[in-house]
Amino acid sequence: MANPQSILNRSCLASLNSQQKEAVIRTTGPVLVLAGAGTGKTRTITHKIAYLVGEGISASDGILAVTFTNKAAEEMRARVEQLLDGQDPPLVCTFHSFAVRVLRSHAPLVGFQSDFSICDTDDQRKMLTQVCRDLGYRSDELPARMLQRLISRAKNCRIGPEAQLTGESGPFAERILKVFRSYQSLLKKSNAMDFDDLIGFTVKLFQENRAVAEEFSHRFRHLLIDEYQDTNAPQYELIRSLTCVHQNLTAVGDEDQSIYGFRGADIENILRFEADFPGAKVIKLEENYRSTGRILEAATAVVSTNVRRKGKVLWTEGAPGDLITVYVAEDAGEEARFIARQIYERLSRGIHPLAVLYRTNFQSRQIEEALRRLDIDYRLVGGVSFYNRKEVKDAIAYLRTALNPSDDVALTRIINEPNRGIGQVTFDALFQTASLEGISLWNAIELVLQKQTLAARSRAALDRFRNLVFSCRKHLALPLHLVLEKILGSSGYLQALQDQGSDEAHDRLLNLKELVTVAEEHAAQGRTLLDFLDHAALRSDLDDFDQNARVTLMTLHNAKGLEFPVVFLAGCEEGLFPHGRSVAEGDVEEERRLCYVGMTRAQKKLYLTYSRSRRLFGRDSGGINEPSRFLHEVPESLTEVGTRFGSNLQRPPGAAAGYTHPMRRSGSYPGKTYDSAESVRRFLSEREGAGKPSFSEIAAGAIVMHDDFGKGRVLKVEEGSQGLKVTVQFPGLGIKKLLQSYARLRAV
Ligand code: ATP
Ligand code: MG
Repeated sequence: MANPQSILNRSCLASLNSQQKEAVIRTTGPVLVLAGAGTGKTRTITHKIAYLVGEGISASDGILAVTFTNKAAEEMRARVEQLLDGQDPPLVCTFHSFAVRVLRSHAPLVGFQSDFSICDTDDQRKMLTQVCRDLGYRSDELPARMLQRLISRAKNCRIGPEAQLTGESGPFAERILKVFRSYQSLLKKSNAMDFDDLIGFTVKLFQENRAVAEEFSHRFRHLLIDEYQDTNAPQYELIRSLTCVHQNLTAVGDEDQSIYGFRGADIENILRFEADFPGAKVIKLEENYRSTGRILEAATAVVSTNVRRKGKVLWTEGAPGDLITVYVAEDAGEEARFIARQIYERLSRGIHPLAVLYRTNFQSRQIEEALRRLDIDYRLVGGVSFYNRKEVKDAIAYLRTALNPSDDVALTRIINEPNRGIGQVTFDALFQTASLEGISLWNAIELVLQKQTLAARSRAALDRFRNLVFSCRKHLALPLHLVLEKILGSSGYLQALQDQGSDEAHDRLLNLKELVTVAEEHAAQGRTLLDFLDHAALRSDLDDFDQNARVTLMTLHNAKGLEFPVVFLAGCEEGLFPHGRSVAEGDVEEERRLCYVGMTRAQKKLYLTYSRSRRLFGRDSGGINEPSRFLHEVPESLTEVGTRFGSNLQRPPGAAAGYTHPMRRSGSYPGKTYDSAESVRRFLSEREGAGKPSFSEIAAGAIVMHDDFGKGRVLKVEEGSQGLKVTVQFPGLGIKKLLQSYARLRAV
């Protein structure tokens, strides 16, 4: 009698094309599926997992599949379960959650306790701010956001705090290094890791303990990785370790969709796959099953402008479909209204789900307003998600503190939340003692209380807090949701919200109730407090994505891997998309790939919208925005005729090389991306050698010093062909227009 699983597998293979099948049935050795968007790469992975289990080639627990988000992992798991007719699916997770699993059982080998805490970006910034305060550095000179990005970039380039961060020397580089070191020792003291550390320490663990690496490589004999083009150096090292005893690696990706360079993703990982994994079978998929012919042609035309790519053929058997609508609005409000009207009209015809994609989060506001005016329900991905809400983070911090009082990050968050009379002065004293003695804040409380240097009132408050933590720890043996309830009650947190009585406080209380419900569900499934904390820490923006939502708003980055019948790509303007930062750095290729990702999310209909003027940071863009160069790259024959686009689009000379984005004119810090050790170095050397104030320091309103004219107030900052032109009012001397390259104004 035929094996029923085999029959299942035969039908599962029947729904694949011959190249996909080839990737599925090649069950040993390295396989790279390199293919364009919508060609069924993710589907190939799902089916390969089902095939491996169904054919009895591997047990479920011998397979590890890595996806980019928890949400994608959940979906893949569900899909495999369906294909396997209810059998247990294998482990499908993100790199980060896999790392947490490994470290929970082996953390002592890299110097941490197994119940280490996980710090998110918000925690990181708070710690960096405090570290800077402690070191006496000004936060406007070393903004936490910049430090966090630099440190993350360094870690993703495998540069540690012990090593020379850069080849440069100088006070600025020194200060950053000092912050990096203090930050890292603070984490260590707190028995905590940030997201980058999760991967970094797992790599370290594997590299320094070959036996452990082999154990995991033996356990997971089949490794499958989706979105391989977005792996960074540490993730790549992790993959190398996991394949140290076998080479059964199936990686799928598309070099044209590499969009995380700013997080250290290295497009080279996919480009040199064959060199890294000798004997690799490279399979190309060329048939696109997602989009209409026109959408596919347009997206391919745009991405073909890039030089750094392998190039590939994409075709579809589907119909050419509708023309792409390009809409030019007078301003962002009109653009939003246009999108909302189109969505309204589509929804009334029963067409959904629809997605509005944009480059930068701030763009959502006007679109949201326009949708609300038409009473259209929508889902926003990347707003303040549940686990990022203040009250939820506070509650989690209480749990973390109860479990591990040495977790400085968590303790800092709740020590005076709600207000219990532990002000900044007391806290600074505590922090200083902790840094001087090299101990945790929790242990420093003991010391500060003994020393009696603080005012009696402050000491009493600290003492009450210490007793509170002790009492919270006593509840830890209770079921998870009861621990949470008890702690929220005894800490005075609930009472403080109830006392406030505002609508906002009421909403916060509801969120906490919801958190207790989540905890109860976890408890019912036998999960521990640590499991629950991991779950909360590893949620990402995209985990809020709801497949059933009829309208979704999200950034282009978040749209990776998804598909929608109708897609709007809003804000196709030079400076906004491509982003002014990338234009300034001469790296537009990644932006173009992002455009390709966005366009290829559309199945049936694609809209590209652009607004001639836009208010940014409360200012008008002050002129006519130029249409994105990407719009010019779409062949005219594919776009809808008769739009106003035709009349006012002029090809920007030299692809808008001289264009300055309003964001840069507004005087905000012209952010940069650092995706390699080299660029970190470049950034630092620029800062060192600069001796000139950054944009932010000479914004309108700032006080500056001129060698001859003395102090003055900046009235206006413009960028012209000769660089920055600054208008300054000098008391007693009047108004002067100066070229910064000569005047060398310094911020005071
Ligand atoms: P992306 O590059 O955006 O991640 P992808 O290559 O992973 O895309 P999938 O999401 O796996 O592509 O597939 C795109 C769409 O095509 C899905 O709706 C999928 O179900 C469908 N599809 C893929 N392969 C086939 C096939 N052989 N027959 C029919 N439909 C298919
Ligand atoms: Mg995919």
